Amino acid sequence: MSAPPVWPISVFRSALRRPAALFPSALVAVALALALGGATGCGSDQETSPDESAASGAAAAASQGPATPPPVTDGEVRVFSAPLLWDGTGAEPIPDAVLVTRGGRVESVGPRGRVTVPAGAQEIALGGAFVMPGFINAHGHAAGVRGAESGAEHYTQENLLRQLALYARYGVTTVASMGGDGPEAVALRDGQDRSDLSRARIYLAGPILTPRSPDEVDEQFQRLEGMEVDWVKFRVDDSLGRTTAMDRDTYRALIREAEARGIPTAVHMVDLEHSRGLVEEGAAILAHSIRDELVDDDLVQAVVERGVCLTPTLTRELSVFVYGERPDFFDDPFFLAEADPEVMEVLMDPARQAAVRESEAARWFEAQLPVAMENLRRIHEGGGLVALGTDSGPVGRFQGYFEHLEMEMMVQSGLSPEAVLRSATGEAARCLGLEGTVGTLVPGAWGDLVVLDADPRDDIRNTRTLRSVWISSNRVR
Ligand SMILES: [Zn+2]
Repeated sequence: MSAPPVWPISVFRSALRRPAALFPSALVAVALALALGGATGCGSDQETSPDESAASGAAAAASQGPATPPPVTDGEVRVFSAPLLWDGTGAEPIPDAVLVTRGGRVESVGPRGRVTVPAGAQEIALGGAFVMPGFINAHGHAAGVRGAESGAEHYTQENLLRQLALYARYGVTTVASMGGDGPEAVALRDGQDRSDLSRARIYLAGPILTPRSPDEVDEQFQRLEGMEVDWVKFRVDDSLGRTTAMDRDTYRALIREAEARGIPTAVHMVDLEHSRGLVEEGAAILAHSIRDELVDDDLVQAVVERGVCLTPTLTRELSVFVYGERPDFFDDPFFLAEADPEVMEVLMDPARQAAVRESEAARWFEAQLPVAMENLRRIHEGGGLVALGTDSGPVGRFQGYFEHLEMEMMVQSGLSPEAVLRSATGEAARCLGLEGTVGTLVPGAWGDLVVLDADPRDDIRNTRTLRSVWISSNRVR
């Protein structure tokens, strides 16, 4: 590991508080909304459901800044200008760019003068130095976790919305919740294609399937009834020798059944041998890094040929051992801006820290982290598809912040900052089957974007210079 992410306080302040720069764009947006016959005033006459109001309320309370523009109405046009816009497709950034959204979706984007701007429309100047699509976490969890507690009683729609608002304030505008999801999450996903959305989008895997033999596959799929899950999630892991991993006949039957239903599979895995079998059997997403040994060319080739996607979740490894002592990121103002002090206290409890230091599992994951990072580099350089993923959500895996930390660790693994940015946007969308919907600022995609005060291609930690975050072209930070 190289130097921990510690930002000078001055950088933090300049990144988070820019009232002078923000007021004009907010006022312009209000004026624009009024001019276009859209929302009036505070938005109280919007058809905003109570759950969406809760999310936007949380975001507004945290920003302490000027009023955000009223929620976008169906058909409402917004025109944004950006000094430099990177669209997430891998194309070169566009200087002096103009982005037009209608009803929250991108209508057109390009250099000023080449984009048709509706007559009379006023621009919202995004400012900053670098505008890009919102980040996608291709492996997270919106879960029954509140503070340092987790349990079924915390799995409520209100709590899920709180977590999706938190992701959003960190610029993570889409979350693939890879397991443990219930009807509350289904309702949020099914209701989120709306112009006035003000929290991160969620897609989900539903309950993790656990067949013990091929005979149990059918009944396991019944657990997904009525959810229209976006992925089927299962585990092939022997918990470092303490349990028996799902055997190949069983996961073959599971993958075949998912294919028959047209649902891609995402698998929790640890080791190379099982990963090889999973790739051969047609798993779509390796939801963690391969951690026991270094991958060979055969594995890399199979991953590339079959279009398998890897979500490295390096911060998940970190979270297993890092709380043996006080982690360096506990001093990062970007972390502290949202961190729950009670959770930090629990994680710094001396008895808990000692238990982590003495844990054999923690030692193993710490020792294997460099293997995971090298395997990420090999798979990426071999041409494999990599999507940002953190496994954030459980206690100690901080939603929103961990995605930024993960991007830093991906660069430390040997990926270029630009490759990491693609993994967090367009490539993540491709991995998840959400291409053209999120992850790129192209016509038809949702207007989900982040504005940074410094170019993250120069230093990936510049993703933390978040100036504003927009979802469906609604300001959420
Ligand atoms: Zn997970």
